[in-house]
Amino acid sequence: MSDSSFSPDLVIRNGLVLPMVADGVHFRGEIAIRDGRITAVSDSTIEDCSTARILDASNAAVLPGFIQGHVHVVQSLLRHQADGLELLDWLRLRTWPYEAALDGDGVEAAAELGIVELLCGGTTTALDFGTTHDHNRVFRAAESLGIRLVSGKTHMDIGAGAPVALLENPDRSLSDAFELGQRWHGAADGRLRYAVAPRFALSCSPGLLRGCAELARANGWLLQTHAAENGAEVEEVRALSGLGNIEFLDSHGLVGDDVILAHGIHLEKADVRRLAETRTTICHCPGANLKLGSGIADVPGLIQSGIAVVLGADGPPCNNRLSIFHEMSLAATIHGLRYGPTALGPWAVLGMATRDAAAALHMGDEVGTLENGKAGDVIVVELDGWSALPGGDPASRIVFGGGPHMVRHVVVAGRPLVVDGKLVDVDAKALRHRIDEAWKATRRRMEEVQ
Ligand SMILES: [Zn+2]
Repeated sequence: MSDSSFSPDLVIRNGLVLPMVADGVHFRGEIAIRDGRITAVSDSTIEDCSTARILDASNAAVLPGFIQGHVHVVQSLLRHQADGLELLDWLRLRTWPYEAALDGDGVEAAAELGIVELLCGGTTTALDFGTTHDHNRVFRAAESLGIRLVSGKTHMDIGAGAPVALLENPDRSLSDAFELGQRWHGAADGRLRYAVAPRFALSCSPGLLRGCAELARANGWLLQTHAAENGAEVEEVRALSGLGNIEFLDSHGLVGDDVILAHGIHLEKADVRRLAETRTTICHCPGANLKLGSGIADVPGLIQSGIAVVLGADGPPCNNRLSIFHEMSLAATIHGLRYGPTALGPWAVLGMATRDAAAALHMGDEVGTLENGKAGDVIVVELDGWSALPGGDPASRIVFGGGPHMVRHVVVAGRPLVVDGKLVDVDAKALRHRIDEAWKATRRRMEEVQ
């Protein structure tokens, strides 16, 4: 074909392509992208690309960009500063005081740190939870750094141990979210989206929770919250409301196929049935769950009950990394304790981190697989690192042997953001300086309050 109007502007050449359209499918091939969209997924050499930029994928796998269903990039400055605590103390003693002490520059620097870590580790889309204030700065960071981000400010108006600075008037909190969604949902050519984010049952009055559900549904935005993460949390919800955690959320509209609940560890049989019949998604966060000693969600059981399960790293201070490789490796191993070593195979886990997550985020037409017409969100993961050698099933090599250090190229909407392992268009030295200064200022404010 010689008509240059069909020529790609980017070609990813000579890789082992895992399009993630079905488990086990892989072939040596190439991907062509034009104007931000995939125009060819080919098992032969793409011709007529003399004007295209070429990214080499030899000795590497080519996959759709990874999608995480639950992160908090705004918590990134607190990383390595909140170890050795269970959930409720982790929130009350460290994370809430930190979020209360953040200013706008701190929010933006934290978001930048979280986003560059996600990108360098091959995560091209994330469902993200903000703090109560300055959420424009998170979107601004995402807009400039190029990630695909679905995000929302968090809502909280009650809660033992919560700093007054984080507790908002419910009407004001909801109107802030409405304004944020109006401004950012669909921005950056659709790369940014809004998702309403009540913190969790213990942080929200019934009126605020209902308001969140109504706001999301009136605007077609996703809903995200935390549920049944910790035994003490579930007991407190029952003491306050007389209901189980899922029952309580359900009674205020927080279940449905537009809802992603992080964790889902301490669930009753009736909860599982209700989540399945309402097609609510659970985001499994094994790294954070193990670090906080919260427990292990029964993921094989949830999947068997028909519940969609996706993966997320949760917050940098409770993990302490945002690596999808860490979460995939844990998801593919820890359930063996209960179900034996075939509980969750590497192809199933890769699917959770790509096409299943895209479907849960209502973005299945856009991302999650490598197919013609989809957004050009493509990653190249090296298969010649020591832990991926000498060979074997490519999903096994990535899930059990992979790591962020093996991510060679990252492309979002056709734009190369990481090339040969290095961020493009980011002054890393200046970013490190901003992160350092923002953490020092935030820590000073945290100490002043104590
Ligand atoms: Zn979380």
